[in-house]
Amino acid sequence: MVLDDFRIEVRQWLKEHCPEQARGKGDPIYPGSKRPRLTDEVATWRAKLGSKGWTVPTWPKAYGGGGLTQTQAQILQEELRAIKARVPLGGMGISMIGPTLLEFGTEEQKRQHLPPIAMGEVSWCQGYSEPEAGSDLASLRTRAEDKGDFFNINGQKIWTSGADFADWIFMLVRTDFSVPKHEGISFMLMTMDQPGVRVQPIQLISGDSPFCETFFDNAVAEKSDLIGRLNRGWGVGKRLLQYERLGQGGLGDANARPAPYRPDLVRTAKKYIGVDSLGKIDDVDARNKVAQFAMNKRSFELTQERSKQENASGKSMGEATSIFKMYGASMGRDTVDLQCQLMGHQGYGWEGTSFSDQEILATRNFLSARAHTIYGGTNEVQLNIIAKRVLELPD
Ligand SMILES: Cc1cc2nc3c(=O)[nH]c(=O)nc-3n(C[C@H](O)[C@H](O)[C@H](O)COP(=O)(O)OP(=O)(O)OC[C@H]3O[C@@H](n4cnc5c(N)ncnc54)[C@H](O)[C@@H]3O)c2cc1C
Repeated sequence: MVLDDFRIEVRQWLKEHCPEQARGKGDPIYPGSKRPRLTDEVATWRAKLGSKGWTVPTWPKAYGGGGLTQTQAQILQEELRAIKARVPLGGMGISMIGPTLLEFGTEEQKRQHLPPIAMGEVSWCQGYSEPEAGSDLASLRTRAEDKGDFFNINGQKIWTSGADFADWIFMLVRTDFSVPKHEGISFMLMTMDQPGVRVQPIQLISGDSPFCETFFDNAVAEKSDLIGRLNRGWGVGKRLLQYERLGQGGLGDANARPAPYRPDLVRTAKKYIGVDSLGKIDDVDARNKVAQFAMNKRSFELTQERSKQENASGKSMGEATSIFKMYGASMGRDTVDLQCQLMGHQGYGWEGTSFSDQEILATRNFLSARAHTIYGGTNEVQLNIIAKRVLELPD
């Protein structure tokens, strides 16, 4: 089909099926049955888009996807943005475990797990980090013992985002303690709704609990839920991290993630610093900083665009995803830092009537932007990967 025809078809379909209630600001629509109930309109919107395969536009139709090319998916994304449609499906299913299963799963595993992900019926969480294994992930100690018909899982994960809402977990477990650490790890899936799994939300100072401790006490993973070969999970787990970083770096599949929070720095500066007679920000230093940010942001967007086009032509990005992850996370952090600086005395307000809701939100964003430089591997870890695996510098 000619691309213009495709755009017209998409536009028409969205006009018919995307209700007003599913447009405008709002979080992406998270999957699974344990989160607060969606309104009927939003639930119907997600189901319609899911049935069309457009929650995961580039996945094959056989697994619940839309079978679109990258270019068509880009058009769909542009049209969704044009009508300000809420991101129809978020979460780790479509952005992390889904693509990994497409690459490493057996036919049965793909048919079992991918269609429910595409329809937003299941929520997934990531069981990688442990109290003694973060950046040095391969030191993980959660063990899986082969019991003939199934694996018996014992141990603990930490920082498990959304574990309290998850139906399934994908995890790295140790299946052999006697070999070098990278060679005794396996990648498994496991249902969370079983007696051997206990989830303890971690309360943050803000009152939020975005992540949990997850304990396994003789939990059971089915043999059919081993992904790839036994003791060869490190490669699968690393590839999943690349998909995670693709999303974090703004290169994920069209609908995978909302754009990270980006404040309007020009407007902030003009409001808090004022304008000169020409209408420019009335402080040379602030003006230069804001201009520098605008240039960096544009350069990054152009680089993302170029890389997306290269990906669309069949080159799959590997370790270089770390460049996008690190730069995107740093830029997000530096932008909110500058926003708070530009607010002067009104920056960094925590609570109280002397701060507006916007100002208090800016402080929350200032804090949470740090998290982007940690999850999916810290900035320092990304720099190590770039040095060793992209630039091939000596160890
Ligand atoms: C918001 C958020 C959500 C998360 N969600 C999940 C999740 O869903 N599932 C999950 O499994 N994990 C999750 N994590 C955990 C995350 O992956 C880890 O926090 C991260 O990998 C760092 O590990 P760590 O916290 O143990 O820090 P450490 O590894 O102890 O690192 C401490 C510091 O030392 C530095 N450092 C460590 N090693 C090196 C090195 N070799 N070279 C240079 N510097 C180094 C690090 O950069 C860091 O600054 C989440 C984290 C956050 C903040």
